[in-house]
Amino acid sequence: MLIVCPSCASEYMIDPGRLGAEGRTVRCASCKSTWFVTPEVEETSASEPQAFFTWLAKSQTEKIIEPYRQALAKQTSAAGTKKP
Ligand SMILES: [Zn+2]
Repeated sequence: MLIVCPSCASEYMIDPGRLGAEGRTVRCASCKSTWFVTPEVEETSASEPQAFFTWLAKSQTEKIIEPYRQALAKQTSAAGTKKP
């Protein structure tokens, strides 16, 4: 995951597994300031699966919706031609 130093905005890629469940204090290599990082604050790994999910949903929605759309069109035209 990506962490950003709150003091100098340096970015570091760290392994979330090294933070543990509760997080841990990290030290910036460039300005030596320390801050607490929790595994929940995952900006990169939180957005990537979401983008993947959106892409997957979009392509699958087309496949799912197409037969339904055709059936609906058939139904609608049948209902339109059928006169009671
Ligand atoms: Zn820093």
